[in-house]
This record gives sequence, structure tokens and C-alpha cells, in this order.
Amino acid sequence: MRQVSVFGSTGSIGQNTIDLILRGDEGEYGVEVLTGGRNIDLLARQALAVGAKLAVTAYDDCLAGLRDALAGSGTKVAAGQGAIADAADRPVDWMMSAIVGAAGLVPGLRALRHGSTLALANKESLVTAGPLLMGEAARHEATVLPVDSEHSAVFQALVGEDMDAVERVIITASGGAFRDWPMEKLAGATLEQASSHPNWAMGQRITIDSASMFNKALELIETKEYFGFRPDQIEVLVHPESLIHALVGFVDGALMAHVGPPDMRHAIGYALHWPERRRLGVERLDLARIGALHFSAPDDARYPALRLARQVMATGGLSGAAFNAAKDAALDGFIDGRLGFLEMAEVVETVLDRFGSDSSLGNAEVNLDNVVQTDHLARRRADEAIRQKRQA
Ligand code: NDP
Repeated sequence: MRQVSVFGSTGSIGQNTIDLILRGDEGEYGVEVLTGGRNIDLLARQALAVGAKLAVTAYDDCLAGLRDALAGSGTKVAAGQGAIADAADRPVDWMMSAIVGAAGLVPGLRALRHGSTLALANKESLVTAGPLLMGEAARHEATVLPVDSEHSAVFQALVGEDMDAVERVIITASGGAFRDWPMEKLAGATLEQASSHPNWAMGQRITIDSASMFNKALELIETKEYFGFRPDQIEVLVHPESLIHALVGFVDGALMAHVGPPDMRHAIGYALHWPERRRLGVERLDLARIGALHFSAPDDARYPALRLARQVMATGGLSGAAFNAAKDAALDGFIDGRLGFLEMAEVVETVLDRFGSDSSLGNAEVNLDNVVQTDHLARRRADEAIRQKRQA
């Protein structure tokens, strides 16, 4: 029996992961840990459905409710960030890292120290602390498998290939909710409009990040950190249908494209069953019916997040931690109405400029203390920048 844990099980990725685990053969998986945040009803239902040994909520005030919901079930309960990190010390064969945001970093690091295979949906781990995470995996001979659809696609296109023969990598972007909006309308985009994605059903934060392309910006950095490509080898291509997830270009001019429906169960299932392929109940594409696929170069004026990501890739070091935290704080500002849609990128740029003028993020060591400090400082600076905007 394979022992597995799902961190962030109540989210969009987490629910798809539970769905695949439940579809496994009788006795195939033993579920050690599930973690969630405020959605304790769902966390409890999931724990009962998979017979989890431990269910952890991130919030102390949710503990009593979780305990009541699981009373008599045999599933233990716990609460708090410390309890989530401790739960990652419970040895498993495979762990899904699907907590949203920087909170996903520590549990992932702890799991790698036990040699668990880490299925990594939490892109923020690689953006904030790529060298630390990949270094820890190498030190403990643990495997990190990408779950982001673009990175899973690149990973699959690279099977059996010589990394030295790779010339470039192209990750695709749908262009998000506002791809076809006139530029002058973007400043007035509302939370509701930004929270709906044309192709993918995802959590709210990543959906808004798709509209602003901050999600693609994170993925550019993720590609560099996970695969070790040079920034100039990594390209973004707008592809409205979201059917080609990524392409790998080789020195002989060949381009290997990964094509599949926009359904995260594919990338999650690939990581769950790797190195095998298993039959998955996802849609089979009928390319004749689809007829045409479209591509265009991203417009930097429309998507300043991509330019900022290139700046971060060039700087390296702790700049990813600053970028991610500033982006997160700006996103909070947009969600709670303190910032307009286009102002998110302005705030992130202000924070990066501030760091650029008074510290050397690029040369600093990427260890956990430095990452946490940079994260806190960037959030403070972003909040300051938001306040200044509102006072202006
Ligand atoms: P969701 O917002 O749907 O789910 C996030 C999960 O994290 C939930 O279980 C949530 O709990 C939990 N959570 C929220 N805040 C905290 C916290 N502070 N501490 C611990 N747990 C917390 O996110 P997604 O599933 O969309 O995304 C998860 C990760 O996967 C992100 O990093 C995202 O970028 C990445 N990803 C997502 C894709 C997708 O298709 N959704 C595609 C590729 C990558 P609760 O809901 O109970 O409060």
C-alpha cells in the first residue's frame, strides 16, 4: 500500500487529488495526512472518505469544529501552521503540496527531508526558495514532481531526452479573463470579472493571477528553478485554447508539444502514478472538431508581470521571495478593494525597486530565515505602497 498525504486537500488541486486517490484500486493508497484551512466541513468529509489518520486545519479557531465533525472516526485532529509543518514529518511515499501561497514552503521542505516524493503544485515554493527546495531534494535523494500543467508538460516532453540538446522551452498562457479587453478598460476590471477564467476551473487567487499574468510570471521563475534553464531559454506564448500546455525546442529544430484538455487531473494523475501512465477519466481531445489552435506573442504593456518576472530571474537569490510576497500583498489589496487591477503590478514594481535600491537580494543566501524575513519585509513594503497610493 502506498502511503500518501495531501496538503491543501480542500482546495481545487487538493479535491482533484482526493478524487484520483478514491478512484485507486482497493487498498492501493493509505492516507496519512490531509490539511485544509477554513473549509472544515469538506476536510472532515474527505478524511472520512479516505480514512485519513490525521486531519489538520491551519486555523486554531477551526479546531473545535473539526474535532466535532470527526468525533469517533479514528482520525486525529490538529490545528495551526506548526501542526501542519509537523504533519509533514510523518513519513509517506508521496505527498501532494497544494497549499496556496508561501505557507506551502515549510511542509514541502520537511517532507523532502524524509525522502518523500513531493508532487509540487505549490509554485510559490519554487519561486520563493527554488535553490533551497531543490537543494534539499538533492541532499535527501528525494524526488520533486511538477504538478503545474505547463511544468508537467515540459517534464513529460523531456523524458528520455538529453538536457544539453534543449534549446528553448515555451510555456503557454491563455491570456486570462481580460485577453481581449481594450487596454483602457483594464483599470476598471472588477474582482468578479477577474475571478472567472475562460478555460480552467481553479482557486480564486490563481484565477486572478491568470488575468494579470502574475501566474505566468510565477511559472517563468518556476521553470528556471525547477529545470535549471537559463532565463533567455524560456518563452511565453499566448494560446487562447489552453490545449498545448508547453513545448520544448531542441537543437535540431524539433518542437515537442504536450497537448491535452485543460483538466488538472491529468498533471496530478501523471505525478501520482509516475513513472507509469495509468488510464485517466479525462476528456479525450477530438482535434478535428477543434479544428484550429491560435498563438500570439504576449503584449508586455498589457502584462507588466512578465517583465517583472524577467527582472527577478536575472537577479535570482531572494528576489523571488520579494516578488511573490509583494504580489500576494497586492492581490490581497485587489481582493479587498484597496487596489485597482492595474495597480497590482505598480505596487510589485515599487517594492522590487525599493529592494533594488537598498539591498542585494541577488547575492543573499536562500535559506529559510532569509526567505521568511524577505517575505515579511516585502509584504510590509507592499502595504506601505498601497497606502501611499490611496493617499495620493
Ligand atoms: P485553492 O485556493 O483552491 O486551495 C488552497 C488550499 O490551501 C486549500 O486547501 C486551503 O484551505 C489551503 N490554505 C489556504 N490558506 C492556507 C494557509 N495559510 N495555510 C495552510 N493552508 C492554507 O488553491 P488551488 O488548489 O487553486 O492552488 C493550490 C496551489 O496549486 C497554488 O500554489 C496554485 O498556484 C497551484 N496550482 C493550482 C492550479 C489549479 O488548477 N488550481 C494549477 C497549477 C498550480 P481552505 O480552502 O480550507 O481554506
